[in-house]
Amino acid sequence: MARPDIAWLPGDGIGGEVLEAARLVLDSSGFEASYIPGDIGWEFWRKEGTPLPDRTIELLRSTDCALLGAVTSKPNADAIRELPERFRAKGVRYSGAVLRIRRMFDLYTCLRPCRAYPGNPGNRTEGIDITIFRENTEGMYSGAEWDKIPQELYNIRGMERVPRQAAITVRAVTRKASIRIAKAAFAHALEAPRAEVAPKPPTAVNGGAKHRVTAVHKANIMRATDGVFLAATREVAQGYPEVEYEEMLVDACAMQLVRDPLRFDIIVTTNLFGDILSDLCAQLVGGMGFAPSANLGDDYAMFEPSHGSAPDIAGQGIANPVAAVLSAGMMLEWLGEKDRADRVERAVAEVVREGRVRTPDMGGPDGTMAMATAIAVKLKQGT
Ligand code: ATP
Repeated sequence: MARPDIAWLPGDGIGGEVLEAARLVLDSSGFEASYIPGDIGWEFWRKEGTPLPDRTIELLRSTDCALLGAVTSKPNADAIRELPERFRAKGVRYSGAVLRIRRMFDLYTCLRPCRAYPGNPGNRTEGIDITIFRENTEGMYSGAEWDKIPQELYNIRGMERVPRQAAITVRAVTRKASIRIAKAAFAHALEAPRAEVAPKPPTAVNGGAKHRVTAVHKANIMRATDGVFLAATREVAQGYPEVEYEEMLVDACAMQLVRDPLRFDIIVTTNLFGDILSDLCAQLVGGMGFAPSANLGDDYAMFEPSHGSAPDIAGQGIANPVAAVLSAGMMLEWLGEKDRADRVERAVAEVVREGRVRTPDMGGPDGTMAMATAIAVKLKQGT
C-alpha cells in the first residue's frame, strides 16, 4: 500500500499519551502514512450523547485501518448520570464505541499476543509466548440485553426457570463466527513466528508438532452455545493435522495459565472468555503495558493496546507505551510492512532486555516518551 490513510483515534485517558509515543516510533521507522484524527470516547458521550459520532464512522469508512489509544466505558448507571439532561430525556442509551466498531466493520478476530520479552521484570516466567484468538463480534458481547425480561420471552419453553424481574444478556454463538475464528487461529499456527524475540522453550509443545491450538470453552454448562463453538473448532482442527489440538474448560485454563503458562501456545475462544484470559495472560508478561491487540476483519482492521484509559495514571506521562507501540507494529504487518513490524518488535525487545529505560509499571522512574524515544533510537540504530 503506497501511503495508507490511518484513522487516528486517541480516545480517553492515557489513550492520547500512548498514541503519541506510538507515532514517534512509527515515524522513526520511516513509515509514511496520512494520519487523520477522529473523535471517540467518553468525552463525546458526555457532549454529544454518543461515544462514536457519525463523523468518526465516516472517517473509518474512508481509511485503510485505524489505530486507537483507549476508550473509557462505565456501567449503565454511571453513563446515564453523566449524560446531559437533553439526551436523557430522549432515552439515549450507552453503546460502547469499540464494540460497535467491531460489529459494524465485522472485525471478527481479536488477536492478542502475550510475549515475555527477556529481561522484563514483570515476567512471571521467561519464555511465555501465548497468542489469543478471541471471537470479536458475538458471544456475551452480542449487545442484546434487557434490564427486565420482555414478557413475550416467558412464552418460550425453559424460560420458566429464569426468575421474574431478572435482567438478561443474550449469549449468541454462531457456527459461521466460530468457524472463522478457528480458521484464523489454525492459519496462524502454520505461519512462522513473527520474530524470535521470546523463543519458546523446547518443552512448550509436546508431540513434535510445531504449534498447539487450545480451544477454551464451558460446553459442559453452556451446552448450546459452546457446543456450537466446539463443534466448529473440531471441524477446523481436522484440516490441520500438523497442528496439535486440545480442548480445555475455561476455569481449568485460567488455573493452568497461572500454574504452567509455558504449556500454552495458541488459544482460541469466545468473546468474554478471550477478554478475561487475555488480561490474565498480559499479567504473566509484565501487565497491561505489554498487551497489544488487533481487531481484524476481511476488509478493515483496528489496532489498539488491550488496556483501557487507566484514569488512575492519566495525564502524568507515566503510562507504558509498549502495548501501543506493539499494536502499531501489528498494524504495520497488516499493511504489508512485515520487515518494519519485525524491526519495531526487535527494538522493543532490545530496550526491555537492556533495562536502561523503565516505566513505573516496570519498577523504573521513566516516562512514556522516554520509553518511546529509547525504542525509536534502537530502531534507527537498526537493531
Ligand atoms: P477503563 O475503564 O478505561 O477500562 P481501567 O482502569 O478499568 O480503565 P485499565 O485502563 O486497563 O482499566 O487499567 C487497569 C490497570 O492497569 C490500572 O491500574 C492502570 O493504571 C494499569 N494500566 C493500564 N494500562 C497501562 C499502561 N499502559 N501502563 C501502565 N499501567 C497501565
